[in-house]
Amino acid sequence: MGFTTVGVVGAGVMGTGLAQAVAQAGIGVVLVDTGDDVLDRARRRIDEGLRLHRLLARSRGEDGPAPDRAEVQRRIEYTIDLGALARADFVVENITEDVDLKRPVYERMDEVCPPGTVFAANTSVIPITAIGAMTGRPDAVLGMHFMNPVPMRPMVEVIRGHHTSEATVERGRALLDALGKEAVVVADSPGFVTNRVLMLTVNEAAFLVQEGVADAAQVDRLFRECFGHRMGPLETADLIGLDTILASVEGLHTAFADSKYRPCPLLRRMVAAGLLGRKSGRGFHVYDHAK
Ligand code: NAD
Repeated sequence: MGFTTVGVVGAGVMGTGLAQAVAQAGIGVVLVDTGDDVLDRARRRIDEGLRLHRLLARSRGEDGPAPDRAEVQRRIEYTIDLGALARADFVVENITEDVDLKRPVYERMDEVCPPGTVFAANTSVIPITAIGAMTGRPDAVLGMHFMNPVPMRPMVEVIRGHHTSEATVERGRALLDALGKEAVVVADSPGFVTNRVLMLTVNEAAFLVQEGVADAAQVDRLFRECFGHRMGPLETADLIGLDTILASVEGLHTAFADSKYRPCPLLRRMVAAGLLGRKSGRGFHVYDHAK
């Protein structure tokens, strides 16, 4: 069974990237956020993402047709009404990394969506079993940890919650297939595989900067040029968003009650100061304009 309409909740960094990828795959999107200003910004980000997509494809020597921006945009309905998700045959939730914000959204989704609709949580560290328990359909809830920028990353970490059914995992795989992406399916644990390792690395890199052992450019250069990583940990943190990084490190700290996850004070201070990385124009590095 294919997909006619995918619901995407949260039109931030991840939600816009995902809406773009889904619409580019020829599938309709209902993109939900809390205000018209956020949705206007989302529309601009998606337009910019489509422009960039063409440039990147060309730089890789690919010669396909440019995405028709107007046509892709026509497939996306921008709305502040969670009730519009009733029409979706699959929903991916990408709102702010905060259990207290996510809970009422899942409760509402559970009310408006027909019983069979699968809910995928695109969270950084929140256990999928806990998210499933916010709904009356824990068997139809799975984790789909997309990577940023979504249209360009071919791999997704898929997480099976305690009650997630095999049919739900298969439905998730089918969506990824439609998007030209692959999955590695893992068991549920805070931070899963990728973020349990990545967040600890980013947090430790922030401690190195705080202690004056190296500056951010040096840290990133060492990772790029010693290990062949495409980006260093602090560039990666800026791309993800330092508010999301801090919330994730705090989430791991709470979940494991292990001091190795204590958030770096420099990270806290940067978030309090509004230095959120690329999306605010400045984080560990400075960017031309906010993305
Ligand atoms: P973001 O801050 O860019 O966007 C979050 C969006 O959620 C905002 O537009 C906000 O207005 C919206 N929102 C908040 N409450 C809402 C509600 N009740 N209803 C509808 N929309 C609401 O954050 P992001 O980076 O896109 O992250 C979103 C989720 O994806 C988080 O759980 C994060 O941990 C996860 N994630 C992020 C990355 C990354 O690289 N940034 C990667 C994988 C997963």
